[in-house]
Amino acid sequence: MSILIKNVKLNDLEQDILIQGEYISKIANNIEFAADKLIDGSGKAILPSFMNGHTHAAMNLLRGYADDMKLMDWLQNKIWPLEAKLTEEDVYWGTKLACLEMIKSGTTFFNDMYWHFHGTARAADEMGMRAVISEAVIDNFSEKGQKEARKMVEKLHNESSRYSDRIQYVLGPHAIYTVSKETLLWLKEYAQEHNLLIHTHLAETQSEVEQSLQKFGKRPVEYLNEFGFLGPNLVVAHAIWVDDKEMQLLADNNVKIVHTPASNMKLCSGIMPLSKKLEKEILTCLGTDGASSNNNLDIAEEMKIASLLHKVNTQDPLHANAGQIFQLATRNAARIFNVNAGEIATGKLADLILVDLNDVSLVPGHNLISDMVYSANGSCVDTTICDGKILMQNRKVAGEEEIIASARRVTKELLAR
Ligand SMILES: [Zn+2]
Repeated sequence: MSILIKNVKLNDLEQDILIQGEYISKIANNIEFAADKLIDGSGKAILPSFMNGHTHAAMNLLRGYADDMKLMDWLQNKIWPLEAKLTEEDVYWGTKLACLEMIKSGTTFFNDMYWHFHGTARAADEMGMRAVISEAVIDNFSEKGQKEARKMVEKLHNESSRYSDRIQYVLGPHAIYTVSKETLLWLKEYAQEHNLLIHTHLAETQSEVEQSLQKFGKRPVEYLNEFGFLGPNLVVAHAIWVDDKEMQLLADNNVKIVHTPASNMKLCSGIMPLSKKLEKEILTCLGTDGASSNNNLDIAEEMKIASLLHKVNTQDPLHANAGQIFQLATRNAARIFNVNAGEIATGKLADLILVDLNDVSLVPGHNLISDMVYSANGSCVDTTICDGKILMQNRKVAGEEEIIASARRVTKELLAR
């Protein structure tokens, strides 16, 4: 399969771009090639597609279900009771809805942690997206929980080979307050043995820090460091409440961070110290978190929120500039998740988008990256390509009506269950 995109703007120059198989094979002024598919890129610009570093895709079914609440009230009284009733089919359609939303807003990759792994993996695979997916590991500090967690991880890891290589299994210990040290140590070893990433929530709220001090006598990052859990294959979501010493530990151990500003702001979890992380060169990317705490999966919006939050927080309008923030959503995420993408260059995976330069948010067009961060939302994306395959063209995604109808149906059934 080959795709030739003619006359598309790349860094303000009109270029032709040839995709062969999964890769961008040639970028030049004028390419003559009998491609299987020809795309007229005039009036459009090409950009790397976005990568969503932390989400719970199937939570799209819970969008708008419970808003304007405190984190623990929200979780304990609204989210967890409903999540306990979720079936694999619910997760499948919830994830399809999330994938549809991501494709329509220019995202081709997501890092997921949820329940019913196969529901998520099957949906992401069928939608043509790239994803790293974990089943949340929770042992509640019991021996029985530890045994079950090990069995579950081994089973799902084996079964994950049934999906295409766009879908990768990762280990997902939920958090230090739901997973014991014993299980964390076992996961660390398992990850090393099988060369897997570990994805967890860390230092999201102040009360998590207080609990950690009470229970372990240490702050969250120090606690994990004590038994050697920190390392370059560890990806942590949030990392808001970390002091300078902990920040240094994250930097020294090459831990990766996913920043989720909209969710953190909505739940009043706190402000992640982005400038300190960037100063210490801790590799950081952006994530939306689930759609019930955001409430959408639009990375263009997340970029704007991130930039404005850190400007006002540092009282410095030069801070968190458009170029920096755009990198978080593309190249940094590609490095964190070991995906050979995040930029438009030959030899890179064809994970990319075409944005419509006539979309009113991109006119008159002084600076495309500024416009993408501060002006546009995902609806300026016309075409989304992942792994050399077209997932959306002219804003049309295959199977869209069925996904919307099915998501409505399973949500209704879930609420009645
Ligand atoms: Zn989360």
